[in-house]
Amino acid sequence: MANSLIKLIKDEEVEYVDVRFTDPRGKLQHVTVVADLVDEDFIEEGFMFDGSSIAGWKSIEASDMKLMLDVDSAYIDPFYAEKTVCVHCSVVEPDTGEAYDRDPRGTAEKAEAYLVSSGIGDAFYCGPEAEFFLFDDVKYSNTMNKVSFEVDAADASWNTDADYEMGNMGHRPGIKGGYFPVNPTDSAQDLRSEMLSTMKRMGMKVDKHHHEVASCQHELGLIFGTLTKQADEIQKYKYVIHNVAHAYGKSATFMPKPIAGDNGTGMHVNMSIWKDGKPLFAGDQYADLSNEALYFIGGILKHAKALNAFTNPATNSYKRLIPGFEAPVLRAYSARNRSGCVRIPWTESPKAKRVEARFPDPAANPYLCFAALLMAGLDGIKNKTHPGEPSDKDLYDLPAEELAAIPTVCGSLREALDELEKDHNFLLAGDVFTRDQIEGYMALKWDEVYAYEHTPHPVEYQMYYSC
Ligand code: GLN
Ligand code: MG
Ligand code: MG
Ligand code: MG
Repeated sequence: MANSLIKLIKDEEVEYVDVRFTDPRGKLQHVTVVADLVDEDFIEEGFMFDGSSIAGWKSIEASDMKLMLDVDSAYIDPFYAEKTVCVHCSVVEPDTGEAYDRDPRGTAEKAEAYLVSSGIGDAFYCGPEAEFFLFDDVKYSNTMNKVSFEVDAADASWNTDADYEMGNMGHRPGIKGGYFPVNPTDSAQDLRSEMLSTMKRMGMKVDKHHHEVASCQHELGLIFGTLTKQADEIQKYKYVIHNVAHAYGKSATFMPKPIAGDNGTGMHVNMSIWKDGKPLFAGDQYADLSNEALYFIGGILKHAKALNAFTNPATNSYKRLIPGFEAPVLRAYSARNRSGCVRIPWTESPKAKRVEARFPDPAANPYLCFAALLMAGLDGIKNKTHPGEPSDKDLYDLPAEELAAIPTVCGSLREALDELEKDHNFLLAGDVFTRDQIEGYMALKWDEVYAYEHTPHPVEYQMYYSC
């Protein structure tokens, strides 16, 4: 195994090895090592680093940690000037060699092992669909003006002198106007193609790209894969998108709701469990699902509010989870409509039978997000948690009393953290997540809640400045 990396270094005349890992908030981190030093011993022994500089990890007194290279994850970096191979790593305690319990990638690996030990399945496939926005890097404030201009345009304040100064907006998609007219309305074709081609060259399995519903919003298609590997793919996906955008003088963002009044940024996660080479979710129940699939949905809906702390981990996430923008609010499921938390995409093939969680967004740490979703689903299967009747009507067309009876996802990160505090035993099964890890994660997230709640917001100036 180690040989494959050493061979790659030789064959490609690699100068550097970039060891990469993910912090609790989900940001990819790296250290670059001279390739000559990366031999069998190096790979076997791992690479020591100071974990105290990573928010949410060790304190300064006990800061030594070790990165273990997953040689199967190696890929040549497409952006660096010097030939560099990147390797994703898991973090272990240097003295015992055990997985460090706050390492998100380690949690993802433990979740996969737990699935096998539960006897329920041997593979968990995730197909995440991470959307993003592209803005002009240097003119961010102008982009914001443009967007507010479009809101005004919808109010018919077109053709004022000020509007002429901003140029003819005819080829710009308006609110919810992006999906999917050809160029020149879609001005990011080449950019998205370059992103997808770059991913292909890195060995990633990709299938398509398109403009999304909001103005300046996009999505590229990744083919599904198993939990930890697929979380690695999301880290590469974001890395490529940020860097290709940067090369074009653009800025990509995965924040869940960058623009008020237009669609937000989701990361739907399509999921299925397989056992002995057979799809466990195909069956003869509602929407050709199996009982296990229904219970899996039951677990997701039951624990959705606690899951929100991982799947929707930003204060900004909750500005997306509102009615009217194709993002879910209600804890309901359906084969047809997209207004609930869980959808069962239509397919004739039992192999493609899957369950789509629609509430996650790409601010999530993908390792923790996918692992937490699996743990909630497995809890549902173990306890035979039936999800109740499906909701096949447009949920927002229901009479007010019926609507009020359907439970919802959280309305704020504060609420999600309170819910996680109350409901996290399902995550601790098999020691996949640990209490210490959840506490550390929550402390980071409370810092974000306080920063947000204690800071005056621009809209407060609008509403209250002249009071
Ligand atoms: N942007 C929507 C969301 O926030 C999804 C839109 C779509 O992919 N149909 O989830
Ligand atoms: Mg999609
Ligand atoms: Mg989409
Ligand atoms: Mg989808």
